[in-house]
Amino acid sequence: MVIRGSRHQPDKLPRVMILATGGTIAGSAESATQAGYTPGRVSIETMIDAVPGMTALARIHGDQVANVGSQDMTFAIMIDLANRINTLLGSSEADGVVVTHGTDTMEETAHFLNLTVKSKKPVVMTGAMRPATAVSADGPLNLYNAVAVAADPHAAGRGALVVMNDRIHGAHSLTKTNTTSVETFISPINGLIGTVDYGRTEYFRRPFRKHTHQSEFSLKGVASLPRVDIIYACADMPPDLIDCSVDNGSKGIVIAGDGNGNMNAATIQRAARAAKKGILIVRSSRVPTGKVGRNMEIDDDRMGFVASDELNPAKARILLMLALLQTRSLDEIQQLFYDY
Ligand code: GLU
Repeated sequence: MVIRGSRHQPDKLPRVMILATGGTIAGSAESATQAGYTPGRVSIETMIDAVPGMTALARIHGDQVANVGSQDMTFAIMIDLANRINTLLGSSEADGVVVTHGTDTMEETAHFLNLTVKSKKPVVMTGAMRPATAVSADGPLNLYNAVAVAADPHAAGRGALVVMNDRIHGAHSLTKTNTTSVETFISPINGLIGTVDYGRTEYFRRPFRKHTHQSEFSLKGVASLPRVDIIYACADMPPDLIDCSVDNGSKGIVIAGDGNGNMNAATIQRAARAAKKGILIVRSSRVPTGKVGRNMEIDDDRMGFVASDELNPAKARILLMLALLQTRSLDEIQQLFYDY
């Protein structure tokens, strides 16, 4: 554990714990202008040292939970992270937590924490699109802003947040939309929670879906989650992808459907057959924004499907995995998609 700046700071500053998991914010390249780099190379100690002004915002502690590119994020790490955050925020050790993370799967971990952290205290994720060694690395200011939000009592009760490029996003809505630009995250449908400008915060709204302290999901005694696969719909898609997933042990399948959660007729029949066997089928969409409604072009009632409502396929998968720990009822799971 690294402790920075606490000795000379007023005791009244909030305590913020930075939990590092890797990603581009901890990435390094051979030169400051090359596009290629290795994520998850730089330690939490080095990252904190790169942002000296942060110690005026909070009493900062840091801990390295993992050091991976977020394409290698696992549910084992996510469960460990959520458990650590619950312990920290349940004590007087931390007033807020910052999680540094790669941007590729940041929305998945944010959504997972939004559902499994049991606290009103701020939980703020951040990362970077440019490695720590790049010209104009965006990580240091993102980290500074994330600490400012985590230390801000007004951020409390808004669920897990993501701070990137001066924006404060809610875990339910945000999604990555650009492979390389620093302006990559957007919050379609519901919009931003707020903005943060060199540490000065402004809030526009609170999430209206259930999250964190209101969530019914518990990780008590949970070491792993049921397998749920995502199948990407496209023109003339082969329906046997459904059977392949079921044969390999999935307990649920999320369809990244065309448009309003559609798939071709042959796939609908296979999916309905799987649903009859007790496999939970959730229709989401490969389209980046818009809801997937129940009984639109597909008769969900007859087929035994669930509509993902506002959740994209990756987030729908996480909600379904957690839901399957407690129920297999179609009606209950559909309701969870409206509530979360
Ligand atoms: N693949 C890396 C990751 O997700 C790069 C994305 C990033 O952090 O910006 O960790």
